[in-house]
Amino acid sequence: MFRLVAHRRHPPPAQPRLCYPWRMDTICDIDLMGDERLRGLMTLLSFGVLVLGVVVALALVLAASVEAVDLGWMIALTLVSVVALAVHELVHAAAFKLLGGPSVRVAFGAQNGLIYTSAAGSVLTRPRFVCVLVAPTVLLSLAILGACLAVGAPLLGWCLFALHLSGCAGDLIMAARIATERGCTHVRDTDYGCELLRAAGEPR
Ligand SMILES: [Zn+2]
Repeated sequence: MFRLVAHRRHPPPAQPRLCYPWRMDTICDIDLMGDERLRGLMTLLSFGVLVLGVVVALALVLAASVEAVDLGWMIALTLVSVVALAVHELVHAAAFKLLGGPSVRVAFGAQNGLIYTSAAGSVLTRPRFVCVLVAPTVLLSLAILGACLAVGAPLLGWCLFALHLSGCAGDLIMAARIATERGCTHVRDTDYGCELLRAAGEPR
């Protein structure tokens, strides 16, 4: 399993907090840990991005004038990848607090060697929840790539970009599922993934 794929595995369930007072109907659950088909899709997407990353990296080495790969380069790749793990979760947390309001309580933890951010029980509108999911993918991936390009290390930037993107498979699959679910108005974060909701009175 790639590093971030399962990072949204949460600690024991928290008591739901009703951020929205009106009644919500559950449309479906997204269970990142228990749904084998979803896990297979995540692994496939992660692997596909990694393969594409390697192919493009080789093409860059062969076709373009890029920096040399030496010990320092490999240390930088390792260190930045590890730091990116923590920053990725911090971006999720900041987005939860920014978009979820004061009632959202964010927690961090680690389980089976994976770190996670949890706001279990919190309910956000669909667009806001999608933003929380994709914020690290967009902001962090582009920041890493931009910073490496700025210091003249395009190959390092591409490799870090691809590595980070491959670990965002779970986030991206959940975001796509939520964005395309007809009738979904809100999403509740849960200890296993999330729960897609429809506010009572909303059209189906
Ligand atoms: Zn994430």
